[in-house]
Amino acid sequence: MTAPLTREACAALDRDDPLAFARDRFDLPEGVIYLDGNSLGALPRATADALAQQTQEAWGRGLIRSWNSAGWIDAPLRVGARIARLIGAGADEVVVTDSTSVNLFKLASAAVALRPGRRVILSEPGNFPTDLYMLQGLCAQLGGAVELKCVPRDRIAEALDETVAVLVLTHVHYTSGEVFDMAGLTARAQAAGALTLWDLSHSTGALPMDLTGAGADLAVGCGYKYLNGGPGAPAFAYVARRHQDGLRQPLSGWMGHAAPFAFVDDYQPAAGIGRVLCGTPSVLAMTALDCGVATFDGVEMAQVRAKSMSLSGLFLDLLEARLPGVFQLVSPRNAADRGSHVSLAHPDGYPIMAALIADGVIGDFRAPDRLRFGFTPLYLSHTDVFDAVEILVRIMREERWRDRRFAVRQAVT
Ligand SMILES: *Cc1c(COP(=O)(O)O)cnc(C)c1O
Repeated sequence: MTAPLTREACAALDRDDPLAFARDRFDLPEGVIYLDGNSLGALPRATADALAQQTQEAWGRGLIRSWNSAGWIDAPLRVGARIARLIGAGADEVVVTDSTSVNLFKLASAAVALRPGRRVILSEPGNFPTDLYMLQGLCAQLGGAVELKCVPRDRIAEALDETVAVLVLTHVHYTSGEVFDMAGLTARAQAAGALTLWDLSHSTGALPMDLTGAGADLAVGCGYKYLNGGPGAPAFAYVARRHQDGLRQPLSGWMGHAAPFAFVDDYQPAAGIGRVLCGTPSVLAMTALDCGVATFDGVEMAQVRAKSMSLSGLFLDLLEARLPGVFQLVSPRNAADRGSHVSLAHPDGYPIMAALIADGVIGDFRAPDRLRFGFTPLYLSHTDVFDAVEILVRIMREERWRDRRFAVRQAVT
């Protein structure tokens, strides 16, 4: 596509946008262009009422009866099945529970147990920090029987050998946005006898995936990014059906027991994906996540992908035309090679992002020098992207980011 570089051309694209209707599913503040839905998805319109209903009716009136009558106890599987459609998995292969960090630990541990005698967990340097930290914690827990080995992404295929128990990668990289070839690497890992564990935090709700087609073994993903589940929303875990009955995860809490209300002393894992559960689900958080996932109802992930590539491509075209040479592009230039966000490097990245946020364009900053912009097709338009770049151009031309107040670092960037 040749870039439409006028605002009118952007408005014309918006008029033809098959996803334009979805913006109305969100409650977005006036005067803000939100380019951070890859970090915290926007608030769906349905969420506040659903939370009020669950609080006042299901909890307030139903009290403990609501575990049955309001279906609370089934929520992890029900919402998991809803997410399954978005990632190309079977409805009985996904469950919502815990955080991404905790799920990664559970599934990495289970993977190592499924591959006895193999002493390597393979990943890449610069993977999302919590993934590496959790794997380091697991290795320490296993007392040195297993080690974490990180090799650069272009050398992963050759590092897959008979020592590797599990390959743990983030499908879309959290800063660069680079996409791994899930099917290719899964096949390569399996040929070496290893399992794969994919972190789908920056992929789910951003681009189509086919976990079944790729033959993926295990996966985890985040509920509060493109899934719009709210701050700290529960995460999900995927286990391919063929691995479920043999899967032993270390956090063997009662909610993953075959019969939690039999109250027996000995742990017996539930059949199927339910064994990934640990403790009691956070019902209100699960309600909000359900509303977030529902914003994808009637939406095809192929449409999401097409619009995502169009929005982020427009952003880069505009930057190159209006601010040539000012930022260094960290993400792949080819839209098909990146997820739904774009990172730019600039030595003054932090104050520039702070100035943008003060002017209503919300992105985020990742140390040491990256400005990150997320493009969420359900609630962004091409004119939003055009306007955001106009504001960035003004900030750079007038050097407004040099104002001292923008240098003060906040706890969360
Ligand atoms: C956001 C994200 C997480 C988040 O983990 P939490 O346990 O929710 O804090 C994990 N991994 C990746 C790749 C992420 O992008």
